Amino acid sequence: MASWQAHFVSLLLRTTFKPRLTKALEATDARRLLESGAAHKVPDDLDVQPGEVAGIPGEWVVRHGTVPKATLLHLHGGGYFACSARTHRPYTCFFAAQGFRVFAPNYRLAPEHPFPAAIDDVLRVYLSLVEALGGAGSLVVTGDSAGGGLTLALMQRIREASRPLPAAIALFSPWTDLATTGPSAIENEASCSMFVSEAIRRGAAGYLDGADALHPHASPLYADLRGLPPMLVHAAEREAMRDDSTRLVERARAAGVEVEFRLWPVVHHDWQMFQPFIPEARESLTIASEFLLARVAHTTTEAPAPRRTRDAVPDVEVCIVGSGFSGLGMAIRLEQSGIGSFCVLEQSGEVGGTWRDNTYPGCTCDIPSHLYSLSFAPKTDWSRMYPTQPEIRAYLHDCVEHFGLTNRIQLNTRLESAEYDEARGLWNVHTPTGSFSARFVVSAIGGLHRPAIPALPGIESFAGPSFHSARWDHGVDLRGKHVAVIGTGASAIQFVPQIASEVAQLDLYQRTAPWVLPKLDRAIGAREQWALRHVPLFRTLCRWRLYWRQELFAFGFTLKPQLLDRARRMGLRLLRKQVPSEALRAQLTPDYQPGCKRILISNDYFPTLTQPQVKLVSAGIREVRPHGVVTDDGIERRADVIIYGTGFQATDTLGPLRVTGRGGARLDEVWRGGMHAYYGTTVPRFPNFFMISGPNTGLGHNSVIFMFEAQIGYVLECITTMRRQGLRTLEVRAHVEADHNEAVQHRLRRTVWATGCKSWYLDANGRNVTLWPGFTFDYWRRLRRVDWRAYRTEGTESTPA
Ligand SMILES: Cc1cc2nc3c(=O)[nH]c(=O)nc-3n(C[C@H](O)[C@H](O)[C@H](O)COP(=O)(O)OP(=O)(O)OC[C@H]3O[C@@H](n4cnc5c(N)ncnc54)[C@H](O)[C@@H]3O)c2cc1C
Repeated sequence: MASWQAHFVSLLLRTTFKPRLTKALEATDARRLLESGAAHKVPDDLDVQPGEVAGIPGEWVVRHGTVPKATLLHLHGGGYFACSARTHRPYTCFFAAQGFRVFAPNYRLAPEHPFPAAIDDVLRVYLSLVEALGGAGSLVVTGDSAGGGLTLALMQRIREASRPLPAAIALFSPWTDLATTGPSAIENEASCSMFVSEAIRRGAAGYLDGADALHPHASPLYADLRGLPPMLVHAAEREAMRDDSTRLVERARAAGVEVEFRLWPVVHHDWQMFQPFIPEARESLTIASEFLLARVAHTTTEAPAPRRTRDAVPDVEVCIVGSGFSGLGMAIRLEQSGIGSFCVLEQSGEVGGTWRDNTYPGCTCDIPSHLYSLSFAPKTDWSRMYPTQPEIRAYLHDCVEHFGLTNRIQLNTRLESAEYDEARGLWNVHTPTGSFSARFVVSAIGGLHRPAIPALPGIESFAGPSFHSARWDHGVDLRGKHVAVIGTGASAIQFVPQIASEVAQLDLYQRTAPWVLPKLDRAIGAREQWALRHVPLFRTLCRWRLYWRQELFAFGFTLKPQLLDRARRMGLRLLRKQVPSEALRAQLTPDYQPGCKRILISNDYFPTLTQPQVKLVSAGIREVRPHGVVTDDGIERRADVIIYGTGFQATDTLGPLRVTGRGGARLDEVWRGGMHAYYGTTVPRFPNFFMISGPNTGLGHNSVIFMFEAQIGYVLECITTMRRQGLRTLEVRAHVEADHNEAVQHRLRRTVWATGCKSWYLDANGRNVTLWPGFTFDYWRRLRRVDWRAYRTEGTESTPA
């Protein structure tokens, strides 16, 4: 029994589509008709990317984050004069969902390009794929209707060229007889939901353009079928082209070809195109997938290993790792530049990076909102001068939606390791859900995403709840509790004022007092928002005013630390104003140059410390006990909850991530003596690997988004130039990178960060591996154009202009 859906669609086609197709005399009319309903919804877990193989355009369809089981070349139907990869997504998407990496070429169509143009095109595609894969053992070919006939023509051409045949083929209602001699063309004329014999003959004449209809490449039914690969054929019992299949199967079997054949009742010609609605379509495609995969599994063990080739086809062109500001910024620019093939891996279940993780009370940014946003994704309705965490988080979500990135991002997918395959010039990317290959990897994993918990003796013995500020446990009720806060950095000074009023006692353990300056925050009114939205010049001026205000600090930080005396005076004035107790003021007065550690801004931190239930403890911590914290002076203070405001592992951003470059070089080992990179972006022996917010690109004075944008533009120029010029790999020259880092370290020695304090900017060897030692516009200027002399490129003799 056929399904009601099959009955229904067949009836619908017979009464509406067939009469119109019968009447359509011009190819253009028929083309319009056949392509009219092409709106297949691509499932979220699939990625459809325009691409080209051997210069023939088409579409790649892959499933996110899975290891492709085989490569499938699908040749679409459409009578050789209509349709495309796009119209035939019901096929390509189905096969991709089954684990195939699918390419559907847009071969040339008649009547503009008559027989044998289509065959020439698909042969080029096929041979290029074989070359890229290092063999045909994991390659299968499928075709529907005219695409079925084309598949058989392709097999003959491959055989004639003595090239390897695919592991298997599958044909759906194949059109194999352009002479239309099968009885079904007449017998089924009434029952067929799509064609009358006259329309079939007309289509054939348009394609043949005078060539002989009995030519075996045009009508493979008349071909010598010996030696063809295992073949699955599915056709409809009552379609006009039924006998194109039945006679083909007979002849193929007689020629010794392994054939699996099935005639389906009630369904119409090429019914698999309706796979979302018709159960028989899904059943047919499932059977075909299993047939093909079984043959692939059988032959791949014998297939030759992939070999060096310039045309290796990656699963995805660019793989971005991380969906914070830098990863999303990169994704937006790739999307805008038309590089369709990219994905974003995100280990967490949500985008946003820092601004997703840090949900502690009072979390805000220290950079004004207009500046702390992507210039190519301006937001005009910030509610305050300094944005809060929920507002930035929402902004990043808006960016994903506005730029249509949702399908690009693979959440809950951690990059565990990536290794460079020198033979193929591709990165093999491994996640817990699968592996795939990418031409370029862009690491946007951020610098402040790995919480640092101090190695305090007895820390594991603590009996109460404890958490890091970046992993705030909102389930812990702090009301009436004795809370120990360890650390007085950027996060602590934001959340301490928020929680102080609800706890019974707050002990704030301080190792070093921070420099704190007033925060010039205010709400942004409706009129200002209106102007920002409707007057672009005003918006630009606001951004630039804020930029230059922040940039002035670079003079003091990097050229003349003495210039920071003004900041010192402001900080001391704030202390005097807000902290009446001389003893507390003394505790809170830093003993190092302002700027050596990050300067913080707050209006409520100092007043909070004057509250009776808040105690600033500046003695060092000796140990943690089950119910308290003991300081070096031997005093144990009760603690029901411990909150670590102890920052991040900023000098070891890789963590467990394994990145293996050329010659087995491991990034964690290359960085054992401290992180380094060429402008924080590329590293020798790691070809086609880029970083955003890499070593020495952080800032102490301005918005890092400005730095990210400089790097994003740089990476984009590398990628687009390489693609344009056919370059396969790019690798920074070791001596160039070494000289660059020497210069950076030399400049850093003259900055405020080298004036003797202990900060998270420095690594275990005292090397500043986090900050850029100058003006941000200088960094931008240096990255504005790629200096190709710094790179070794492969794939062409010439150096890009
Ligand atoms: C509390 C706080 C306040 C800050 N305030 C300021 C400020 O005022 N001004 C300023 O300029 N900067 C500030 N920063 C710095 C901030 O980190 C950057 O401004 C910026 O948000 C970093 O963006 P990012 O995309 O580079 O990294 P992140 O935001 O850290 O994003 C990295 C992403 O990569 C993902 N990821 C990491 N490893 C993997 C992996 N192996 N596989 C898959 N995904 C992975 C992470 O889950 C994360 O989503 C602040 C940081 C914090 C923590």
